[in-house]
Amino acid sequence: MKLTNINKSFGNKHVLKNTTLDFPAGKTTVMVGPSGSGKSTILRSLNLLVMPESGQYDFGNHHLDFSHKVSSKDKLAIRQETGMVFQDYNLFPNKTVLGNIIEGPTQVLKQPKQEAIKVARELLAKVGLTEYGEAYPHELSGGQAQRVAIARALAMRPKYILLDEPTSALDPELELSVLKVLLQLADERQSMVIVTHNMVFAKRVADKIIFVEDGEILYDGSPTSFFAPNNPNQRIKNFIASMT
Ligand code: ADP
Ligand code: MG
Repeated sequence: MKLTNINKSFGNKHVLKNTTLDFPAGKTTVMVGPSGSGKSTILRSLNLLVMPESGQYDFGNHHLDFSHKVSSKDKLAIRQETGMVFQDYNLFPNKTVLGNIIEGPTQVLKQPKQEAIKVARELLAKVGLTEYGEAYPHELSGGQAQRVAIARALAMRPKYILLDEPTSALDPELELSVLKVLLQLADERQSMVIVTHNMVFAKRVADKIIFVEDGEILYDGSPTSFFAPNNPNQRIKNFIASMT
């Protein structure tokens, strides 16, 4: 999927300025950069939670021009094909873990309930939570809740999973359980876009790194040269040093 020359302002603050970015299928793209630089705005544009004022968006057979109103058909299709995982999990508190996971498949995709439950149990096994189908969100640790949120996103069989600082709310030992799941998904070539402040994880998981500062893309390329000690961009070296 690809954004071309997108612009987004909030009030008189011009956040994204002719931003062009490509997010290759079957790869993990990691976005890093200081807070307030526009990472979430880019990620949210990818699933149309944020609507840029201009620019293009190419996703599979969909070609959107943000200068015109996006059709509800395109909007619906793109929302379904991009699963968003938020920092604070956003689980339905009054539903069990299984109830959370089958909600989208049964309500949106109209899957039969028994089939949705079977898939949900497989996904729970994948994220290491086989025993937790009947638990409620308040009974889970943050790491477990985030893994349920990932299973819930996967249950919709999206082309891309978008994760906005998925482990920022977690203690280090709980963080690890979530990072392991993401590393496994990356190995399986699940298309992903991850915003993270964890540079060790970024280096390990990324096929491609994007560094955003003040709405500008200061780096878009391989993790090897991004993290190389001889990276000529002093601003990037300072940022990495400050985060590790
Ligand atoms: P990041 O995710 O890199 O921390 P964001 O994309 O959240 O950055 O924000 C980029 C800039 O846009 C910030 O200055 C932020 O205050 C502003 N911004 C983001 N979302 C909104 C919004 N809904 N309303 C007003 N300003 C916003
Ligand atoms: Mg953000």
